[in-house]
Amino acid sequence: MTQIIQPGEIRPPAQEAPFVRSADRKQVFRRRADRLLQLAAGHPLEPFLMFMSSLAGAQQDALDAIPESSADLAMGLAEHRKRGEPVYPVTDTPLDPLWHQALHSILAAILDSSPEPTRKVIRGLQEMPADELDTLARNLLVGETAMADPAKAPLLAAALQVYRTHLATSLPLEEFGSIRSEQEHHPGNCPVCGSRPDVGIVHAAGPESGLRYLHCSMCESEWHLVRVKCSNCEATTGLSYLGLEGEDGSVKAESCTECNTYLKLLYREKNHELDPVADDLASLALDLLMAEENVLRNGSSLFFIPGEESSSAN
Ligand SMILES: [Zn+2]
Ligand SMILES: [Zn+2]
Repeated sequence: MTQIIQPGEIRPPAQEAPFVRSADRKQVFRRRADRLLQLAAGHPLEPFLMFMSSLAGAQQDALDAIPESSADLAMGLAEHRKRGEPVYPVTDTPLDPLWHQALHSILAAILDSSPEPTRKVIRGLQEMPADELDTLARNLLVGETAMADPAKAPLLAAALQVYRTHLATSLPLEEFGSIRSEQEHHPGNCPVCGSRPDVGIVHAAGPESGLRYLHCSMCESEWHLVRVKCSNCEATTGLSYLGLEGEDGSVKAESCTECNTYLKLLYREKNHELDPVADDLASLALDLLMAEENVLRNGSSLFFIPGEESSSAN
């Protein structure tokens, strides 16, 4: 079959570049915590980024406490794969008590270092019955962030991310290798869990170098999407790229005139340390700029519920 190079694609995907990349479960949240700390210094959102750093550290500890082998791999995996559906769909995978374990571990870890208003929220969640926690979790999992309490959402999302990352990284590697043929799957949804991406990453090392992957906001998996293609409506024309003046160009908004949405792209060739969640949060000014242009954000951010943090960010 002839490979057609998409406009803007630096080179066709190398044979060995995988369609889906799985997170490094030993490091993913620890690296994020370090990156957030680095970004926080002198940043207008310093206290928020510092808090997110301790939250990411607590996420790594919670993930480390879950045995790798405990994911139920028999859980309809082959069934879903056959139908070209996400492997662990967020919408119909039962919530496991493991997510409560992750939540309580995270809450206990950040309680002492949190400011008083956050401590109040933490104590409220610590006392909440499991079924109420599950209801809040389900709303977040299906993307009902509008219904979420902005004070509780980041804490719940942090625990769900740990649980979903645990599931995704417990998949046998050969399963990831075979998640390749679902080219018909909508690029706006994670092939592993069906969630929306938060940002795209243009890699700068290994077989993925020069390729764009979308990063899952929920399970930390990444999937390949050719460059210069809208991840929302798949348009390949009418795209433009906007960065913040005075910045190094490592974060840009890819905006689409067809559907009037944008997705942030992180360019690792400019900075190898860019992290999808940390650098998304630290570049909130770019979201505000896009909001001024009336372009809607495509994809979700679990840690930023619009309307709340934007007011504190002035
Ligand atoms: Zn996912
Ligand atoms: Zn579009």
